[in-house]
Amino acid sequence: MTAARLGKIIDGKGFADRLAQRYAGEVAELKAKHGVTPGLAVVLVGENPASQVYVRNKTNQTAVAGMRGFKHDLPASTTTEELLDLIARLNADDNVDGILVQLPLPQQIDASAVLDAIAPEKDVDGFHYVNAGKLSVGRESLVPCTPMGCEMLIRDRVKDLAGLNAVVLGRSNIVGKPMAQLLLRADCTVTIAHSKTRNLPEVCRGADILVAAVGRPQMVRGDWIKPGAIVIDVGINRIPGEGGKSRLVGDVAFDEAVKVAGAITPVPGGVGPMTVACLLGNTLAACRRRRGLQG
Ligand code: NAP
Repeated sequence: MTAARLGKIIDGKGFADRLAQRYAGEVAELKAKHGVTPGLAVVLVGENPASQVYVRNKTNQTAVAGMRGFKHDLPASTTTEELLDLIARLNADDNVDGILVQLPLPQQIDASAVLDAIAPEKDVDGFHYVNAGKLSVGRESLVPCTPMGCEMLIRDRVKDLAGLNAVVLGRSNIVGKPMAQLLLRADCTVTIAHSKTRNLPEVCRGADILVAAVGRPQMVRGDWIKPGAIVIDVGINRIPGEGGKSRLVGDVAFDEAVKVAGAITPVPGGVGPMTVACLLGNTLAACRRRRGLQG
């Protein structure tokens, strides 16, 4: 790999490791100064293998950062009422500063009712409509971890985002919409594209910052990218690889895009690790705010 190509690749893993280390230091300080240990409850319903990996990762990192982890594994047959009952208990538990319910939930569960039931001040995923609303009106809130991590990676490469054209590909409540809000807050001119957008390649070519969150393997081609653009690839897609094994790719055709982009996140090793690091940051923030503590 050439030095020029290497310089373009955004090292999300390295950034996330440094961030997690900083948060571990802040956790130690909170303990020493205030005798408080931030606690994160992670709820997993069923046995979705990808969800199991994500949850393991999150609980391991919580422990490494010195936080308390409360893991709740529920059977796939869990009802909405049973899950709401657990959420009510976690809301009332003073040792729990953050609550995360791993998505997707089994079909019989009303996911909206569950997310709405999480106390907004403990909603470390930032999915509650109160937090989404606060973000959109510019109030302090818990911000979804993935877009928060993307913004950090973008700001690490571009100091002043004001006036830049940003295109967010995807409009989900967990990635696309909050990502667009964060870029708007940073004074970008923001376009949100989705499955009904016309002339998608042309829309993308107008982007100084392109965030792809569609869940379509390698959909964004090299000739969709403006030369020098910052490309953030949120997609995590499993496709058939060599020898009957599968491999992970993003929503961007990396080998084509890296030739054109000014900077680009790889998959894996880009946005994914940032999501977990930002979860630690949100748990710390929730702990401090809820308890009225300074840093
Ligand atoms: P999602 O809820 O399925 O939303 C996908 C969005 O992409 C929708 O807005 C959809 O448009 C749009 N879309 C789908 N096909 C399209 C097409 N052909 N052209 C244009 N737009 C299209 O997905 P998500 O939860 O936001 O996740 C997106 C990707 O990010 C997935 O691969 C997911 O695994 C990954 N992800 C990664 C992380 C991480 O930590 N790295 C975290 C979360 C998600 P409509 O609204 O019109 O249907």
